[in-house]
Amino acid sequence: VRLIPAFGYPRIRWPEGRRFAFTVFDDTDLATRDNVAEVYRLLADLGMRTTKSVWVREGAAGDGSSCAEPAYLEWVRDLQRQGFEIGFHNASSVSSTREQTRAALERFEQLFGHMPRSMSNHSRNAEGIYWGEARLEQPSRTLFNLATRGLRRGQFRGHEPGDEGFWGDLCRQHVRYVRNFVFDDVNTLRCCPFMPYHDARKPYVSYWYASSEGATVESFTKMLAPGAQERLEAEGGACIMYTHFASGFQRDERLDPRFRSLMERLARRPGWFVPTSELLDHLHAQLGHHEISVAERTLLELRWLAGKAFLGHT
Ligand SMILES: [Zn+2]
Repeated sequence: VRLIPAFGYPRIRWPEGRRFAFTVFDDTDLATRDNVAEVYRLLADLGMRTTKSVWVREGAAGDGSSCAEPAYLEWVRDLQRQGFEIGFHNASSVSSTREQTRAALERFEQLFGHMPRSMSNHSRNAEGIYWGEARLEQPSRTLFNLATRGLRRGQFRGHEPGDEGFWGDLCRQHVRYVRNFVFDDVNTLRCCPFMPYHDARKPYVSYWYASSEGATVESFTKMLAPGAQERLEAEGGACIMYTHFASGFQRDERLDPRFRSLMERLARRPGWFVPTSELLDHLHAQLGHHEISVAERTLLELRWLAGKAFLGHT
């Protein structure tokens, strides 16, 4: 990974004299109220407002809860009242048609008072937008197809007009920020200093953002080790951690002790702890509109591919 040069990055002025920014986008895979409530209680106690994604429509049994469950929905709405952002993780844990996605976006707006501002693709859904090989341009696409033996070719079609799952126009109209690449660096800005960015090759997404790898409690706690926290602050950077809080952070009622102590340590630092879309709005206000160049896109894709090849992350 280190063979590929890093971008330099601009100095960001953080609000309220804070020295860096930190947030989490929580992918809702496997999550129920019971298996993540303690995680959110800790974040609320520490004054960290992050982003919890949801599915609107019921999916397959065992995938995790959706807003179709009244008790879960009530808990999610309570998180929103406490200042957490509610994000979108497609309409459901299973693939949706265009009409199902349209209905889910309308229902989301009814439930939460606005359309989703941030989202990530649920990695198995056919209506994934610019997902699989479609995340990449050449030459990275060919490298990706070689590495995956072409298994994900043409699998995701949310951006293809005429497909039954097409919802690109709805995404562009209603969703502001869509997640793409995840990197093995606590300072997401070091890997993607121009986020949020627009990519003219992917017109159905208004703005893309990158993230730092924290998919499970193991990678999350490794990424947020004390030395990494120090560096994030020293670099004046921003971390958008991509995780699944249902992946080992809480067992029964008990939080993973490493997670708890690292978050307590982070909360004592002079960071700006706001949800994903608020952090990205601030970057956008500071940096202005950014149209990604061919050179920037190629470097970003190759860095991601190298990390994926060596580390296996998403
Ligand atoms: Zn998912």
